[in-house]
Amino acid sequence: MIYKKITLRRGKEESLKRFHPWVFSGAIATADDTIEEGDIVSVFAADGTHIGNGHYQVGSIMVRILAWGDTAIDDDFYAERLAQAWRVRQALGLVRPDNNSYRLVHGEGDFLPGLVIDIYGNTAVIQAHSPGMHFARKSIARALVDLPGANVNNVYYKSETTLPYKAHLDPENQYLIGEFDTDVAMENGLRFHVDWLRGQKTGFFVDQRENRALLERYSAGRRVLNMFCYTGGFSFYAMRGGAQLVHSVDSSGKAVSLTQRNVDLNYPGDERHQAFAQDAFDYLDQMATDAYDLIILDPPAFAKHKSALKNALIGYRRLNAKALRKIQSGGILFTFSCSQAVSKEQFRLAVFSAAAQSRRKVRILHQLTQPADHPINIYHPEGEYLKGLVLYVE
Ligand code: SAH
Repeated sequence: MIYKKITLRRGKEESLKRFHPWVFSGAIATADDTIEEGDIVSVFAADGTHIGNGHYQVGSIMVRILAWGDTAIDDDFYAERLAQAWRVRQALGLVRPDNNSYRLVHGEGDFLPGLVIDIYGNTAVIQAHSPGMHFARKSIARALVDLPGANVNNVYYKSETTLPYKAHLDPENQYLIGEFDTDVAMENGLRFHVDWLRGQKTGFFVDQRENRALLERYSAGRRVLNMFCYTGGFSFYAMRGGAQLVHSVDSSGKAVSLTQRNVDLNYPGDERHQAFAQDAFDYLDQMATDAYDLIILDPPAFAKHKSALKNALIGYRRLNAKALRKIQSGGILFTFSCSQAVSKEQFRLAVFSAAAQSRRKVRILHQLTQPADHPINIYHPEGEYLKGLVLYVE
């Protein structure tokens, strides 16, 4: 199928030939003047070869390729891509009686640039990051409920904050299919409320599932500080792991009450847990030395763009230095960065500088990343965003 036409400058098809799915504005020689934001377009090399079809958007990334060659981008296309994504999740063993939360579609990692879908039990939460995916939302929602075996009945669309403001799409957060059912989902046998209506992102950070399970194994008998707790995921895993006490901290009062609700859901009345609404840097400055022997630092992305990289690295160094200075000897630090702009090496260097500043003896026990339901398209290395280190501190 051929759509409205975009032709590239000579030589600008090289990265596309290596299956990288983005066309930058500087690569475009000519474009049909009827093209509008969110349209499906056909991209041609200067020699007239049809490279593929994708979504058009005004900005530095102008086309996100959805399919190579002349594949039509229609209802069947979305149904097939979702079925492929679903087969991978099934292969991963993520859909079980004790686990019904996972990411079904991770943008480029599932060959659907601009689209994120998280599943919580019978409810799917869709986030569109491109106008093209916004226009395709109803087709995607239908394909979701038709996916055999996935048991999706309700589809909530949540893109008010993820679509480019300038596109004037005025997306409304709403159920496209079904309605509110339950907000309790399950991860590795632990239950939690998901607030997809008001929470950050799709309501829960499913990307830390495996790192939380690893933390559980280190928790027995430890005094745990879960810094940047949000919905408290790490906290209730630490409790199941037999922690002596768990303190959850977040600057947002809403996050602190969500954490307390989730702890209560799993461990009602358990006095090992306390939550505090406080700034991370202040808390770390004020806390007593040796108060904790297991600390989690999972801050929001310090660098949302490359331009913020330098300050972000300083931020990671300062934050980690504070924790490393005060953690009890024999303590374990789980430290993360979810900034896509910060590479694994840069993050490790920032933590290395923090360790040197603290003058502690520090060893790396684990190097962590995003779980397999957040796959990385090998041709799109930018898809790797979550990195973590588990450190043993003498
Ligand atoms: N660890 C969480 C996700 C953390 S998201 C999980 O497993 O789900 C980042 C959190 O950091 C948000 O809840 C946000 O409210 C909080 N936050 C942002 N800036 C902060 C600060 N300066 N001090 C403490 N918390 C902060």
